[in-house]
Amino acid sequence: MHALSLRKLVKTYKNGLTAVKGIDLDVEEGDFFALLGPNGAGKSTTIGIVTSLVNKTSGTVSVFGHDLDRERDAAKSCIGLVPQEVNFSQFEKPFDIVVNQAGYYGIPRRVATERAERYLQQLSLWDKRDIPSRQLSGGMKRRLMIARALVHQPKLLILDEPTAGVDIEIRRSMWEFLRQINREGTTIILTTHYLEEAESLCRNIAIIDGGEIIEHSPMAALLAKL
Ligand code: ADP
Ligand code: ADP
Repeated sequence: MHALSLRKLVKTYKNGLTAVKGIDLDVEEGDFFALLGPNGAGKSTTIGIVTSLVNKTSGTVSVFGHDLDRERDAAKSCIGLVPQEVNFSQFEKPFDIVVNQAGYYGIPRRVATERAERYLQQLSLWDKRDIPSRQLSGGMKRRLMIARALVHQPKLLILDEPTAGVDIEIRRSMWEFLRQINREGTTIILTTHYLEEAESLCRNIAIIDGGEIIEHSPMAALLAKL
């Protein structure tokens, strides 16, 4: 079973720019996968389509066998997204942000509070759980979005440039956390424009440039070529 399959995926924006030009891609269940490419390559557009934030122009998307057009809710419930930009209320508190997210998935409150505690602990945010989230540092906000993305225990976690602007110590602890949840069975796809990040974390990699996949291989095979 593939965690994600893209076939002939195309996105042309209203201004006429084609950001994604017929991508085919398979990501295996359990993989830790990098979508690497320079700014403007089409990474965020691709992630946006997979997570139903951007409408595709044509092609198909399947998430754990659920076609995004025919079984959108089932596909969406398989995915946790960590977006590039902070998109929670700066006035809400971290604990409430995570628990309220669980509400959208119909998760009972008791289960939601247990999970919020577990993930906020694991991401070193527990002592910040009751302060307005605007007081968190950039790295803390990113970790909060990871906790929020995990609260419905998605089979696939997608992170868009997860450590952009995060300092090196925090970046390493975020990497270690992601490795751990991947070992526990969550498939992870991240976009990055740092080869070092992909190299440190990922087993398989696709390189995207100008809206096209120009390389798709195991990480080790790519590194051997460089
Ligand atoms: P990244 O950090 O992945 O490069 P950005 O948010 O910086 O993502 O956006 C990448 C490019 O897309 C930038 O050149 C930006 O100006 C452009 N862009 C983002 N949103 C829009 C939009 N709504 N319309 C046109 N261009 C956009
Ligand atoms: P990446 O995430 O790899 O930086 P994006 O998917 O953000 O790339 O952008 C791919 C291309 O699409 C860029 O040329 C960007 O300017 C353009 N783009 C992104 N969002 C929009 C938008 N809403 N309208 C028009 N063009 C966009």
